[in-house]
Amino acid sequence: MVLLKDTLHPVEQTANPSDGSFKTSAHRARIGASVLLPVFTPIRDTKMKNKHAFVHCLTALALTLAAPLQGFCADASPTAKEALEKLKSGNTRYLSGISSVPRVDAQRREETATRGQRPIATVLGCSDARVPPEIVFDQKFGNLFVIRVAGNVTGTSEVASVEYGVQYLGTPLVVVLGHSACGAVQAAVEKTPLDGKLPKLVELIAPAVDSVKKAKPNAKGPELMEAAVEANVRHQMAELSKSDVMKKALSNKKVTIVGAIRNINSGAVRWLD
Ligand SMILES: [Zn+2]
Repeated sequence: MVLLKDTLHPVEQTANPSDGSFKTSAHRARIGASVLLPVFTPIRDTKMKNKHAFVHCLTALALTLAAPLQGFCADASPTAKEALEKLKSGNTRYLSGISSVPRVDAQRREETATRGQRPIATVLGCSDARVPPEIVFDQKFGNLFVIRVAGNVTGTSEVASVEYGVQYLGTPLVVVLGHSACGAVQAAVEKTPLDGKLPKLVELIAPAVDSVKKAKPNAKGPELMEAAVEANVRHQMAELSKSDVMKKALSNKKVTIVGAIRNINSGAVRWLD
């Protein structure tokens, strides 16, 4: 697991959250001082003659002092319920066209590079290019530990990755994220002849599709697809729950697994009961 530890910065490497936060806060304070000095100097020299400059100075000071607190609060480990609320409100922001968090700016890059990743949730989603979890849930990078695979299936590598997110990164929430019009599910529904390794992948979806066809023998078209997508999410949730690591985490109430489906037309996420 040395390679994993070096590559993915598990939580043990930054075991003391306050340690990492204070370092970054101190660093930010230094940055704040360097930003404020050029502001203070001309103001002092002109004996505060310019009222607007004074207001600007106070605003800059307030923002600089607030920044470490914002970073500290954002990194407090949430419960599964709090993490779920963050994802729900993130999807609401996304739907409104307003992204409230900086996802890829230099400050966030510095934070994640220095302090490691501290995701609030592990997301097993489909590779479909229309369903990027960070954007769907309006989360900055470092917030989600994402596994993407066609059909959001639970092959060995995917289960292992989810286990990693739960066991080593301590995410309290695991989301299995399916979506409407999923090509992988459609291939399983229509039993499409496929080449290469794809049949092996579709095999992992087939049990869900079979259960739907058995329960709804007359369903076809969009109704069948919709039911198959949901059944696939539930099936993969159940498969995840079978791993020893997940069983232990679930019994210790260290993690909650939830299912969700993104409508690719509306962008809305429907959470499964
Ligand atoms: Zn898909």
